[in-house]
Parts: sequence; C-alpha cells; structure tokens
Amino acid sequence: MEIVFEPCLSEKRVEEKSGLKCKICSKEAVSNGYCMLHEKAHQNLTEKFETWKGALGISWKNYLNEIIKNPSTGVKAREVAEALLSIHNKTNLA
Ligand SMILES: [Zn+2]
Repeated sequence: MEIVFEPCLSEKRVEEKSGLKCKICSKEAVSNGYCMLHEKAHQNLTEKFETWKGALGISWKNYLNEIIKNPSTGVKAREVAEALLSIHNKTNLA
C-alpha cells in the first residue's frame, strides 16, 4: 500500500505529519499501516503463509487462526495476525 500525500494537510501538527499510524500500537507507521516492529512481523507472517499454503493448502483465515493459537507465536506476530484476521472478517462481510 502506498502512502497518499495530501498537500492541503501540511499545516497539521508535527506528530501527525505522516498521517499514518500503526493499526495496532498507534506508533508512527512506516509501511502498510504498521510501525517498524509490526511491519516486520507482518512480513514474516505473509512469507510463512506462502510456505504453509504450499505444504498444507491452508487458507489465509485458517493460517491466521493457527498463528494466534500457537503458543510459540511471538507477541508482535500474534497482534498482527489478530489485526489481519479482523480485517479479513470485515472484508468478507461486505
Ligand atoms: Zn505497531
């Protein structure tokens, strides 16, 4: 997802300069709407999904559920998986 620049908002206060905050922790987002830490976890999750999909034919939703259930999943990865799952569920309701 690319950053959309809105020149008319340039007078906003400094802490809102990017206008983008992490969907999870509200820190400044670097890409995809995640901060650096959550973006890293997000990348790991999507990369691992390719492997799982190839090996197990698992769906995105089931994969995210497995990640959330797995006790060895890191805190950041679980937070991202939960956020992605809720986005997925919302998207599929539309
Ligand atoms: Zn974050």
